[in-house]
Amino acid sequence: MGLNDIKDRIAEAERLAERPAGAVQLIAVSKVQPNARVEAVLREGHRLFGENYVQEAQGKWPDWRAAYPGCKVHMIGPLQSNKAKLACELFDAIHTLDRASLARKLANQAQAQGRCPALFVQVNTGREPQKAGVLPEDLDGFLTQARGMDLPVEGLMCIPPEAEDAAPHFEALAQMAGRNGLAGLSMGMSSDFEAAIAAGATHIRVGSAIFGARDYGTA
Ligand SMILES: *Cc1c(COP(=O)(O)O)cnc(C)c1O
Repeated sequence: MGLNDIKDRIAEAERLAERPAGAVQLIAVSKVQPNARVEAVLREGHRLFGENYVQEAQGKWPDWRAAYPGCKVHMIGPLQSNKAKLACELFDAIHTLDRASLARKLANQAQAQGRCPALFVQVNTGREPQKAGVLPEDLDGFLTQARGMDLPVEGLMCIPPEAEDAAPHFEALAQMAGRNGLAGLSMGMSSDFEAAIAAGATHIRVGSAIFGARDYGTA
């Protein structure tokens, strides 16, 4: 695996789905990866990355943004409300808007900072109790609320249950986005991004297939 293999597979999946070349944006998920691996991908010219932890992103990306112009960094991990300010400063997009209290914090920050990252609402398509995300039946109401706060909601995001076929979850998310007039669909990871592209993903989040396995360490 590696960046070029993944790009080839994306192009092939776009072709099979009869979607235009370049319809899908590849978010290279660099969380927990050694700096050398991320820098290798930066040197290959890739500029769109995903991070899960605000603190980790804060430690790495200001320098890399300066060294490699044009970088975009998307927050794809759960966001605590007390990190909303920092997240608005650090990220170009946040894929994990999942509750009204966070929406309010982000709206306040948008006011204060005069800008707001692009937002994706996370949907708990598998209705898993331990997983974040708005429940499907609450989504339309939540979107009305978020739009009432002038938040720039551009799409939906999901993480299907690990033990299930992901395709029906991707298709359900695409339907929810369609009926709400949202163009963005953040779905698909290393193991299932081709199915996500077939279902209409606009943003896929691929980590280990580009960088190798994450080592969370044992210490
Ligand atoms: C870590 C992570 C990914 C990337 O996972 P891989 O299986 O390494 O591709 C994608 N999306 C989210 C939300 C993640 O937390």
